[in-house]
Amino acid sequence: MTMAIQKKSKTPSVLNKLASLTTIRDIDLFELSFLKSLTELLKIRELSMYKLNQSRSLCRLITYTIDTSHTTHKQKISESQEIHITEIEIPPHIKLAQDWINSTNKPYTRFNQSLYLVVYPIIGAKGVMGFLSLEVPEKLTETEELVITSLLSISQNFHSLLEGNQKDKLTGLLNRKTLEDNINKIQTLLVKLEHLQPNEVLDAEEFKGETEDKFWLAVIDIDNFKHINDNFGHVFGDEVLLLLAHVMQKSFRSSDLLFRFGGEEFIVIIRAQHKEDAEQLLERFRCTIEAYKFPQISKVTISIGVTNINSEFAIPSNIVGRADKALYYAKEQGKNQLHFYEALVESGHLTEKIEIGSIELF
Ligand code: GH3
Ligand code: MG
Ligand code: MG
Repeated sequence: MTMAIQKKSKTPSVLNKLASLTTIRDIDLFELSFLKSLTELLKIRELSMYKLNQSRSLCRLITYTIDTSHTTHKQKISESQEIHITEIEIPPHIKLAQDWINSTNKPYTRFNQSLYLVVYPIIGAKGVMGFLSLEVPEKLTETEELVITSLLSISQNFHSLLEGNQKDKLTGLLNRKTLEDNINKIQTLLVKLEHLQPNEVLDAEEFKGETEDKFWLAVIDIDNFKHINDNFGHVFGDEVLLLLAHVMQKSFRSSDLLFRFGGEEFIVIIRAQHKEDAEQLLERFRCTIEAYKFPQISKVTISIGVTNINSEFAIPSNIVGRADKALYYAKEQGKNQLHFYEALVESGHLTEKIEIGSIELF
């Protein structure tokens, strides 16, 4: 393994990588491509990114590894690339690096067992949002350091541009525009899972859970929000939306997808093997909101309509439509409650429309 960056090809390859990186419009894909590009540019085997969680004690670890195996007789090099994404406690070496970076504003380096561990901070809109960690046999050269810091700072700017495009300005949750893409991704994944051979494993990049997991889409609507606005004013209304989004981020896992769908409507996509598990999670959230003391307003309640996201061809608006029907039922029944569309159809409280694409037959 050599750390030398070939002088001739350096500039074009850095620029080419940058050019291809900035064509990506999806934050997750962008992060993975960023790690891949940097791994290739630095000619190292492995690169890790630790993304701090809201709680600041957990982080999401994304590791990109190139496994290079040589077959001696033919000098053939086969490369398999692997991405690992896991939720972990912040490891001690990252905590040490965190303290060092906080006090010196410089990357952290440690020499251990013939390798240099180097940790760079990843800066987001609200300060340090994570760390980039790599191990190298020799000290990084100035050029290599420059490649890392330049790529990091360009990627940080690009990342915040992407975020701005995908996040709701008030709450910081995903915005409505990104919902359709996410549902499409889930449906594609479900189709793959259905056709999975017994020993086949999916890329960690696209799959981070149990193969038996199902996806559930819940539409959450604040009850009597108009009253809140009318009685306390829009500023307090906005405050409720913000606090609700905070509670939401704390109540669900970081792998769950949280959207602000519109004014006082939110959407959560969670994965759970059984309906009962999804119900328990959402019911717990409903109770947390009911018990939460909102400043001035005190009690706020929510109604929730849920449906299962299946792999059948169903356009996202129809899936949201199903959850919306269950939500409407919850409102009719007195609000502050949770209903599943499929259960309402089964019990005869709702009648199912047969949908082909966006055309409703009945
Ligand atoms: P229900 O219990 O049936 O859901 O009644 P509701 O009053 O919550 O529902 P309705 O749809 O009648 O009212 C929603 C209100 O949300 C109307 C609108 O003025 C307000 N709203 C929408 N977006 C925002 C926002 O960004 N900030 C604030 N403060 N209010 C908003
Ligand atoms: Mg509403
Ligand atoms: Mg409402």
